[in-house]
Amino acid sequence: PESVDSTLPHILVVEDSLTSVAVISRDLREYYTLLHARDGEVAWEMLLSDPRIELVITDVQMPRISGQQLLKLIRLSPETRIRNLPVIVMTTAEDSAEKHLAFLNGANDFLNKPVDSLELQARVNVHHRLSRTIYELEVSQAALAELATTDSLTKLKNRRLFYTQAEENLIACRRYGKDMSLLLLDIDYFKKVNDTFGHHAGDEVLVKVATLLAHMVRGVDTVARFGGEEFAVLLPETNRLGAAVLGERIRAAIEREQINVDGQHIPVTVSIGITTLAAEHVESIDQLLNIADQRLYLAKNGGRNRICVSDDGKSHFA
Ligand code: GH3
Ligand code: MG
Ligand code: MG
Ligand code: MG
Repeated sequence: PESVDSTLPHILVVEDSLTSVAVISRDLREYYTLLHARDGEVAWEMLLSDPRIELVITDVQMPRISGQQLLKLIRLSPETRIRNLPVIVMTTAEDSAEKHLAFLNGANDFLNKPVDSLELQARVNVHHRLSRTIYELEVSQAALAELATTDSLTKLKNRRLFYTQAEENLIACRRYGKDMSLLLLDIDYFKKVNDTFGHHAGDEVLVKVATLLAHMVRGVDTVARFGGEEFAVLLPETNRLGAAVLGERIRAAIEREQINVDGQHIPVTVSIGITTLAAEHVESIDQLLNIADQRLYLAKNGGRNRICVSDDGKSHFA
């Protein structure tokens, strides 16, 4: 066998006839790296273990797992990479029943045996390019979606995503009778941080507070940068007590945290307004946020560096 340039796109040829493989290989090897499997079972193992494979050309009649069965396995795969592979099926011209079945099983295209060399090259090129383009579109779409919901400074979720998550969770709470809580945090005297240490240091403080917050919550919780130096935390399936305990833990952790920027220690504290769905008669996330905001104001007025869990300004309840 000749040396293969493994930077070329990889194609898996599934075929039990070595003569047929040799023909296909001769027609494609200038532009593709060809891998060969002599039946569907070997092919399936290769697909699972080799993510370089970008396209499959398969015969129908083969020992053990047939081309049709392989096609079904590919299209039912839980792995997106495998499920979306372009598959070209080789049949004989007379065999329209096999062709029909392959179409139903999710084949992208067909080649008649004996395979015409130009037609083979043209179809492989088209499907390979198409699947690459689709893949690139999906990647950039995911990146855009990520960008649209992320705060660029802190990498936390932004206000928009927080609302989406909160609305969804509110529906789930109604449907399943569950509870949820919400924390609204605001850094104390942040203007002074900027004035004393500079705007750049202020930004660093925001990043450090964001990182600390993200590390203190569960995977199901959403931490968002809500505004300038304001953060919101959504706590699904969390009651008043749970929210108050977490709020106080966060407050204490931020007060304790040694935040140093450019060799200077910057003392940081936060005030937190806390609200819980089951404890309030509210119709919307906006109302819930309003209550949290009022309590945040009470926490500020009460002297800052504290949490507030009720409308009389208490930081705890009996
Ligand atoms: P309080 O304890 O009442 O919250 O006082 P405060 O100074 O934190 O409150 P205020 O809302 O008056 O000031 C917030 C400041 O946060 C004002 C603004 O310059 C600053 N700020 C907002 N966004 C950013 C940011 O992205 N980076 C930096 N460095 N500062 C920001
Ligand atoms: Mg065969
Ligand atoms: Mg503020
Ligand atoms: Mg503030």
